[in-house]
Amino acid sequence: MLGEGILKGLAETARNAVGSFVSKDRLTTVEYPEERLPLPEASRNFPFLVYDGTDWEKGLRCVACQICEKECPPKCIYIDKSKDKKPDAFGRPQIYPAKFDIDISVCMSCQICVEVCPFEAIKMDTQYELSTDDRFGGLLLDRKELAKSNEYYHQIHPTEASEVDAKLAAEKVKADAKAKAAAGAAAAKAAAAAAAPKPAEAAAKPVVLADAPAAKPQGEGD
Ligand code: SF4
Ligand code: SF4
Repeated sequence: MLGEGILKGLAETARNAVGSFVSKDRLTTVEYPEERLPLPEASRNFPFLVYDGTDWEKGLRCVACQICEKECPPKCIYIDKSKDKKPDAFGRPQIYPAKFDIDISVCMSCQICVEVCPFEAIKMDTQYELSTDDRFGGLLLDRKELAKSNEYYHQIHPTEASEVDAKLAAEKVKADAKAKAAAGAAAAKAAAAAAAPKPAEAAAKPVVLADAPAAKPQGEGD
């Protein structure tokens, strides 16, 4: 029939137009900011620093190795290494970042800092409502502003955070076993050293020669 294709096309358009008002799945917009769409797990914006435990300063995983600072393409990470060591969340003495700033007005969200960090210390955040009228200070985030808990990391990237936890737990088991073996070897060495005769004691012992005549008591035979 002449014009059948046009009629079919119009019917399809009408079906879609009406459907977009009644079918929840077809509504492509939400009433932002009152309503927000859930973010996909892989979404990312700017980096944040992960900390373990409840004390952000003590629990920062970052050991200020500065690899991310060197690898960041637009050079928007600024780190100062501490001069001293502090116990981390697990009680191990660590160098820490005395200063760790990221200029998010320069950051291009490439995630290279995350890829190169050997300590799972820096991850990508999903927060996007960051507009400010302070172009410089407002967008230069310091370590306190960047620090977010591991629980937060689990909320925004649950799959990735679980994999990281499993990896860190396996590494800790390995490190503990190595430390235990080293402590055992050191204890065995110390015990062997304690059991061996001391050189001074050995020197003090008289040497008895088999052929040497026994000393006569004083006065005998004189
Ligand atoms: S995401 Fe990319 S640009 Fe941003 S701080 Fe990390 S390495 Fe630099
Ligand atoms: S975030 Fe990672 S790569 Fe960057 S300084 Fe800290 S430990 Fe090193």
